Amino acid sequence: MNKLKDILKGLLSGELPIADKLKYCVTIYSLACVHAIFTLFFLLIGIPFLAFYNLLSTLVYLFCRKLLQKEAYPSIYCIACGEIILNTILTTYTIGWDSGFALFLLVLVAGGFYISYTFSNHKYIIPFVCGTLSVITYFCCYFLSQSLVPVYTMPSGKSACFLYVFNSVCTFIFITAFSILFMVDIRISLNKLFEENKMLGQIAGVDALTGLYNRWSMAKFLSDAFQTEHPFCLVMCDIDDFKKINDTYGHECGDEVLKHIAKIIQDFIPEGSYVCRWGGEELLLLLNDYTSEDSAALAEKIRCSIAENSTAFEDLVIPHTMTMGVAHHHKNQTVESTIAKADMKLYIGKRNGKNVVIV
Ligand code: GH3
Ligand code: MG
Ligand code: MG
Repeated sequence: MNKLKDILKGLLSGELPIADKLKYCVTIYSLACVHAIFTLFFLLIGIPFLAFYNLLSTLVYLFCRKLLQKEAYPSIYCIACGEIILNTILTTYTIGWDSGFALFLLVLVAGGFYISYTFSNHKYIIPFVCGTLSVITYFCCYFLSQSLVPVYTMPSGKSACFLYVFNSVCTFIFITAFSILFMVDIRISLNKLFEENKMLGQIAGVDALTGLYNRWSMAKFLSDAFQTEHPFCLVMCDIDDFKKINDTYGHECGDEVLKHIAKIIQDFIPEGSYVCRWGGEELLLLLNDYTSEDSAALAEKIRCSIAENSTAFEDLVIPHTMTMGVAHHHKNQTVESTIAKADMKLYIGKRNGKNVVIV
């Protein structure tokens, strides 16, 4: 029971998509069933002509299974449309408007526009033409029925009532089913859109090579840090003689070094702080709630780790070092000026032999 409830909940919330084939399959079998019931009904009340017509319709819908295997959805819809229009004309002519068969034309219009998304060609023209024909048939049959005397009279008021109620119930069921499917499809699309947006957001905010945040993401973190007015430090880091690594071992090896160094630094970053790829082989650390001393100590640990943990590339071991400039952000400063300060410290470090942390 609980499992059924979970499946229903999953279906309605759009977590469990319903295959197009299944939708058509249920629809054509339902229509075949309805016509089989009509066949028996008309046999019982002694209208063999309509019993024969409904038997033919049942067989036509069973034949649609073959079209279903070929996923010929527009053909299935057009056959259903033709059958329902013909059914309305015949029943109005033979037993009168009050039989309620014209109600099925309403399902055609709503259902046609809904399922047209499964058509690969003529997705607008088919439901539009079928819908228009349904409306024309509806009103033509209504006005003709006003002046025509039905060929057959229903044997009793009860059978006429049954027919009208049965047709109304079927119409409500089909329209409700299509409306629910439409709602579920919208939920599925929204869920998909949400997931894809989330993924795009992640891709857009992350550097593809290193997996670190990119400059765009860091701009947001910096702006948040600036607005909270908490103290923070920036550490600008640059790989030493990286061009030489590229020139000596190749660009691919340079990429490997970048990824390796990014991973080392990432492991040192405490929660609430961030590291991004600021550009080329430059990384920027944002250490929230860090003093200059604490930042310098952390930067020193990172610097040592980078120097001690060379990158393995193919059969080679590539040693590397990094220079860092630490700048404390003061409340009355702009973030840009703190970045410039960290940059300047980095420059001093480069001028003073590299592989150092300058505070
Ligand atoms: P310094 O110690 O003064 O920083 O010298 P450097 O050689 O590291 O600096 P320079 O600015 O002369 O060279 C940086 C090089 O980084 C040049 C550029 O081709 C390389 N580079 C930038 N981005 C990438 C990347 O994504 N992959 C690789 N392999 N190389 C990159
Ligand atoms: Mg460099
Ligand atoms: Mg550089």
